[in-house]
Amino acid sequence: MSMKEGKQTGAGRPGYEIYIGLEIHIQLLTRTKAFCSCRAGYGDEPNTNVCPVCLGYPGVLPALNEEAVKQAYLVAAALNCQSAALTSFDRKNYFYPDMPKNYQISQFYRPIGTGGYIDYPVDSGIRKVRIHDVHLEEDAGKMIHAGDVSLIDYNRAGTPLLEIVTEPDIKSGEQAEAFLRYFRSFVRYLSVCNGNMEEGSLRCDANISLNRPGAGLGRKVELKNMNSSRFVRLALEHEVERQSGLLDAGETVAQETRLWNENRDATILMRKKEAAHDYRYFPEPDLPAFYPDEKFLGQVKQQLVELPLERRLRLQQEYGLSIEAAAYLTIERETADFFEAVLKVLQGGAEGFAATVYNWLNGDVMKELNNRNLSLGNSPLSPKRLADLLLLLEEGRIHGKIAKKVLSLIFERDRDPEFLIADEGFEQISDDNSLRKLIEKVCSDNPEALKQARAGEKKVLGYLIGQVMKSSGGRAEPQRTRNLLAEIIDADEEKEEKAR
Ligand SMILES: [Zn+2]
Repeated sequence: MSMKEGKQTGAGRPGYEIYIGLEIHIQLLTRTKAFCSCRAGYGDEPNTNVCPVCLGYPGVLPALNEEAVKQAYLVAAALNCQSAALTSFDRKNYFYPDMPKNYQISQFYRPIGTGGYIDYPVDSGIRKVRIHDVHLEEDAGKMIHAGDVSLIDYNRAGTPLLEIVTEPDIKSGEQAEAFLRYFRSFVRYLSVCNGNMEEGSLRCDANISLNRPGAGLGRKVELKNMNSSRFVRLALEHEVERQSGLLDAGETVAQETRLWNENRDATILMRKKEAAHDYRYFPEPDLPAFYPDEKFLGQVKQQLVELPLERRLRLQQEYGLSIEAAAYLTIERETADFFEAVLKVLQGGAEGFAATVYNWLNGDVMKELNNRNLSLGNSPLSPKRLADLLLLLEEGRIHGKIAKKVLSLIFERDRDPEFLIADEGFEQISDDNSLRKLIEKVCSDNPEALKQARAGEKKVLGYLIGQVMKSSGGRAEPQRTRNLLAEIIDADEEKEEKAR
């Protein structure tokens, strides 16, 4: 038993079991809204993407956006849910100024997916979170508070929102943070959401309860207003402290909704929780139930892709990559696609190249992209160009420093590496005649240094090699240069000995 035990605080506080569930909302990437043909998108003039349907005028009828339903079924399938053979919509009644109808079209009785699970990486292991359900609903508008007035923009009202409700299988704030980072990657792989938490296209509420081990769930507290995965972790860690403090003191935890306040690093009370019946859910009478047919389900199946964790494990196995390397390469599908495309060009030598390609992508390529505010998808660097550059390096036609220069030039000039090397005169000098000429010139320009080198001063040899590199514009092949220079110094010594 170590001294540390019993002194733990926070997520590791002994004596309580921690149950954390997440409610994640993702904005689906559809062209139009969920129940009308208004544009679903961002950055437009306020209240321009609106019509009688999404403004909740009386007497209008909603029409279901099939693309939104397709994306919802896709997420449900990727989450290993049981997909509904019949799905329908319900009205969730509550008043809020940014919701013009005073009810939200959502799903309560027959959600699109139920009873799934998702595996996600945390630390160097893999954990499982069960999915309670996946349901489709519409987003509300946006309120903008400016001084004494509040303004409302209804452009977002009625855009399709997918809610994913997990079972309370998460055990710490740290796990919740890891889960959300992975989930962002997951929805981006599926091309159903851009996953931007700061802009609110991926939002997360959490519920958390603590209880004595074996006593089941405790009284649930809901947490809102966390717009980054880091805030989700901090809010949950704060709640663990707060609730265990109450329980330690023999008090009970009130069932309520609390807001994360980032300025105070604390959660604060928002409201006592409504029970589900407060929303008076009832079936939406204006929308018929949706029965997915074979063709629809076939289309959904076609869009299922290899998910980030599967891909990470495959890259580790197939190319012998480390966990860190495979994790980095698979966060974005674009990076993983690029990596594999480079190796495909390199073909035969692919195994030996995997770590090299990763190092370039994670190092110099990333630097170039960041400096130019580009991504792999819209940069002049194609997989073919990177592969060619690495082959030139491998064949010894250029060396490392020049290769980095060529990479920059690909970004600057948008040309192939072969062309750039010829055009810039970058090819490595490795034939003995040319090298000898360069070395002899350097020796005759530096008679003092040559004398010292002959006297056996090792560091002077380094200086002379440096001068040769400099005079060749970095193109002299370093090892060959070192050997030839040593030969010339020895030869000079012999000559002098003979003269004596
Ligand atoms: Zn509309």
